[in-house]
Amino acid sequence: MTAPHPETWLRVTEAGLYCEPGRFFIDPVRAVSHAIVTHGHSDHARPDHQAVLATPETLAIMRVRMGEGRAGVTQQALRYGEAVTVGEVRVTLRPAGHVLGSAQVVMEWQGSRAVVSGDYKRRRDPTCAPFEPVRCDVFVTEATFALPVFVHPPAEAEVAKLLTSIELFPERTHVIGAYALGKAQRLIALLREAGWDRPIHLHGALQPLCRLYEAHGVPLGELRPATVKDRASLAGAIVLAPPSAIADRWARRLHDPVPCYASGWMRVRQRAKQRGVELPMVISDHADWPELLATCAEVEAEEVWITHGREDALIHALAQRGQRGRALHLVGREEEETEALEFAEGGEG
Ligand SMILES: [Zn+2]
Ligand SMILES: [Zn+2]
Repeated sequence: MTAPHPETWLRVTEAGLYCEPGRFFIDPVRAVSHAIVTHGHSDHARPDHQAVLATPETLAIMRVRMGEGRAGVTQQALRYGEAVTVGEVRVTLRPAGHVLGSAQVVMEWQGSRAVVSGDYKRRRDPTCAPFEPVRCDVFVTEATFALPVFVHPPAEAEVAKLLTSIELFPERTHVIGAYALGKAQRLIALLREAGWDRPIHLHGALQPLCRLYEAHGVPLGELRPATVKDRASLAGAIVLAPPSAIADRWARRLHDPVPCYASGWMRVRQRAKQRGVELPMVISDHADWPELLATCAEVEAEEVWITHGREDALIHALAQRGQRGRALHLVGREEEETEALEFAEGGEG
């Protein structure tokens, strides 16, 4: 008997991708009875599901972000590499390298294997486990930065630019827009690796998840609240804030602030200019164009399904390499964080 093609057992519904023989959704955009959640960003982890299966880290992130009562009536933790049978489907989670706890969902049914990547990147990130490629029949990928123009520079080089700017303007406060989940902690860890051992100041919105990362064994060094009342003491300091805060009144009360923003979207100069970003830092938690192509090749999937992002260029490039691409047009993605909508129409980066 030949294995059934994943299109016969995985389908797109209004709530998101649904696995028929497992009777569960993956990252559903509305409350459902059984959800597998790839990671804690708000366009993937929604509140009020009945049963949620995810990594222990993702479940902890959901509890912090939504409150205990809305993070799933029942929560089932599944560690990377452990297998569980859901309905008739064998399910395993593998690291996606995107943020703490982020996972690819590996589903096996009657000899056929599909992998849903969730969001992912292939660059080193000291705050989460690295992406593990899994061979499969169908690979379901994101495509946030799926254009040849998107080639992310090394994050270390972007951090070096920041440190140079601090040397040049030692009296000014560098205030960096960074998403509360993932980007903020990665940036802090990179700053520590680059030798910045002074305290790093945090906007209140970033504090709970930084504490959570530390509780999960990711050291971030000395963190202090960014109390703008005491603006003189923040001269020469690094302040991290949600992207929406860097250009508003909150940041203007800091000492002669230099607005910075850490995002893959900073590759697009127009976006930086529009929002008055003086120091754009191209640091992304998503795969860039070469990483997308390399990953699709590595998993050796006959077909690649694209959940959200720019699918046309990727489908074309895959076809030239003998892989069939298909756009799923899932709704409700690319709104990674609410700040993203205000800041850069394209979503979290
Ligand atoms: Zn994400
Ligand atoms: Zn996403």
